[in-house]
Amino acid sequence: MRDVIIIGAGPAGYTAGIYLARAGLKPLILAGEQAGGQLMWTTEVENYPGFSSGIMGPKLMEDMRAQAEKFGAEIENKDVTKIDFQEEVKKVWVNEKEYVAKVVIVSTGARARMLGVGEEKLLGRGASTCAVCDAAFFKDKVTYVVGGGDTAMEEVMALKRQSKSVGLIYRGDKLRASKIMQDKALSGVEVTWNSEVVGVVGEQKLEKIKVKDVKTGEEKELLADGLFLAIGHLPETSLFEGQLELDENGYLVTGKTDLPTQTSLRGVFGAGDVVDFRYKQAVTAAGMGCMAALDVEKYLSQIT
Ligand code: NDP
Repeated sequence: MRDVIIIGAGPAGYTAGIYLARAGLKPLILAGEQAGGQLMWTTEVENYPGFSSGIMGPKLMEDMRAQAEKFGAEIENKDVTKIDFQEEVKKVWVNEKEYVAKVVIVSTGARARMLGVGEEKLLGRGASTCAVCDAAFFKDKVTYVVGGGDTAMEEVMALKRQSKSVGLIYRGDKLRASKIMQDKALSGVEVTWNSEVVGVVGEQKLEKIKVKDVKTGEEKELLADGLFLAIGHLPETSLFEGQLELDENGYLVTGKTDLPTQTSLRGVFGAGDVVDFRYKQAVTAAGMGCMAALDVEKYLSQIT
């Protein structure tokens, strides 16, 4: 029986691992076959404190992993296939192999929803899923945001401070975003209504986007340096459905007990983008990983 298993290894999982390993609890991190999370798909990260010259996303994750291992965290790049958290002993399976622990931290993250029109190959080269992270790379450039929710409004606001121009492309004619966010974001922004992005042009970097009017079927190309996707995120929680409380968008619910990162089940904690639909930053995920680790230490001291 282990003390702690951490499922998922982005900034939240690795940070929890560093803290728990340093506390002598020898956590096992089941990092998944694609360990490292969303930063593995980014290029330069300029807003992670402590790296004044920036750091490449994959390098940051490698260093976090090495730091956790240095203090005694055990890390396996395996995908968890089944869990049972109902009893006092938490059970986790990787295919046939069963692992048991007193505590589990879920830090499985979230994925940005993609359009699937070829923009994935231009991520970090014009296409982005985070204006707060990347707006500074688009100073005096022409940028577009796709989406109609609050995130799209936030992306527009972040870009407006830096870009030469920002356009919004929305597939409907009535934005889903709150009125207050729309009012803040959209002054001076050209909105292309009833339109979908149906293609991207560019090999080394984004050059143009192809936009289709869904009412008339007419297509046009827009010169663009930046394309920001704000069409929602998908938290990685399918494994936990029916066992842990999720909100209406599938995010893990925490914060209802005196241990703020504890989920709806005792001994199961959540951290990072799998919980956080609002901030979605590497540094906030790392901070939540730290919080979960400290909550786990307190929980273990209460039950032993
Ligand atoms: P939402 O799910 O609210 O909005 C997603 C948007 O993307 C919708 O406008 C949707 O269009 C559009 N969309 C989805 N799929 C596609 C597609 N394939 N092609 C084109 N457009 C697409 O996600 P958000 O990330 O904006 O927000 C998630 C949650 O977080 C919400 O509850 C939001 O209120 C909250 N939030 C709050 C903030 C705050 O309070 N400061 C900031 C950011 C988010 P359609 O409208 O037609 O369905």
